[in-house]
Amino acid sequence: MTYDQARWTDGEERYEPLLSEKRSREVERDADDPLPEDLTRDSLELPDASEPELARHYTRLSEMNYGVESGPFPLGSCTMKYNPSFTEDVAADPAGHVHPDRSDESVQGVLELQHRLQDWLGRIGGMDAVTLQPPAGAAGEFTGILVTKAYHESRNDERSEVIVPESAHGTNFASAAMAGYDVVSLPSGDDGRVDLEALAAALSEETAALMLTNPNTLGLFERDIERVAEMVHDVGGLLYYDGANLNALLGRARPGDMGFDVMHYNVHKTFATPHGGGGPGAGPVGVVDELAEFLPDPHVRAVDDEGEPVPDADDAARFRTYTPERSVGKVHGYAGNWLVLMKAYAYIARLGDPGLADASAKAVLNANYLASKVDYEVPFGPLHHEFVASAGEQDAADAAKRMLDYGVHPPTTKWPEIVSEALMTEPTEVESRRTLDQLAAAFNAVGDEDDETLERAPERTAARRIDQVRAAREPRLSWHELDE
Ligand SMILES: *Cc1c(COP(=O)(O)O)cnc(C)c1O
Repeated sequence: MTYDQARWTDGEERYEPLLSEKRSREVERDADDPLPEDLTRDSLELPDASEPELARHYTRLSEMNYGVESGPFPLGSCTMKYNPSFTEDVAADPAGHVHPDRSDESVQGVLELQHRLQDWLGRIGGMDAVTLQPPAGAAGEFTGILVTKAYHESRNDERSEVIVPESAHGTNFASAAMAGYDVVSLPSGDDGRVDLEALAAALSEETAALMLTNPNTLGLFERDIERVAEMVHDVGGLLYYDGANLNALLGRARPGDMGFDVMHYNVHKTFATPHGGGGPGAGPVGVVDELAEFLPDPHVRAVDDEGEPVPDADDAARFRTYTPERSVGKVHGYAGNWLVLMKAYAYIARLGDPGLADASAKAVLNANYLASKVDYEVPFGPLHHEFVASAGEQDAADAAKRMLDYGVHPPTTKWPEIVSEALMTEPTEVESRRTLDQLAAAFNAVGDEDDETLERAPERTAARRIDQVRAAREPRLSWHELDE
């Protein structure tokens, strides 16, 4: 199967004009404008388009892009799942759109949902308390490490190091460094898992935490996790769980039961809300009891008639926001990205315990099925929610570009580095067997092609090769910059 993306051409150029290029209109300043003159402009060029023109403009742009509604999106470690439409309906309900400065008393319904979501996430992860505030996974890591730091400092126990396996997501290194720690990189063992001897050598009285992803980014479960937890705790360190890969464990195993003390959830990877274009997302953080007093401000709790805290929302008379006793402060405004969190609430409520367990079963089954169908070598296993194939002699980035011509989004490429020319692939639980077969056919067709074809790819997309480095280094985020 191949794929041709819509393209609008003007002679040789493929393009869809900006709205401002189509037609614009000068808006004159109103003579009665009460605003001070030095704060206003005399005129403003605004794009001028009728409703059909506007609707067509955005539809065309979407047709020139590839998204979860175009076809499968097996981006490894990112779980770009299809976003169920009903969660959008829930998030669009005006009842949830309240100003964050309103009094607790006037937004009891919203606080109740927040409390229940804190509770559900805690039960899913095996954690005692959860903050919803961090706006992304990386922000969750940073918050979790700040909490870790506050915990050690509260015990007059200054520690300087955080250990991160070399196969970890890049944000782990960055979060630990941003919190002021020296990062100790831990090499993987021959089987792709944590090497216990290397871990023993890295651990010391300076270890504030070990950050682990489990199953790790190779899709492998850390079988020795209980031993790892014991080793970290023996030197007085904490065990941090990177929850971006929770899809593999949902309803089956809990980081808290494995010995983890603090974790973040990638709500936008596990509980609806695919994150594209940088967000928004949400990265709640769960902690064990001893760390709860350090969580960000504000936090939501349930209280009885006397205002005394009660653990269960069902026993609550009211819901209140408060500042945890030794809070690390704010890591974002108010309750974080509330509408994203509302989608997570809706998703968990709709699936329930059996649905979540079913999602993890399908995530793992789909990854294993697809891995068995692709001709590329998959060096590590047995697998959980994802696999890392090697493009072998091919350049993984070129192979990935070519996949677009076959109508599938490419996997994550060139990471983790422990597999050469890595194609890190996570089909997710939502894809049918037919779609997985289409994905496998695309991988295998690309696998048979020569370098020349791959270097030319993609050929059938609206935009060909994009200068990715330049796009990242010199982003043009406003149409004004096109005039320069
Ligand atoms: C995506 C991801 C993160 C970071 O999450 P963001 O929400 O993108 O900041 C951290 N760890 C792993 C393993 C991830 O896949």
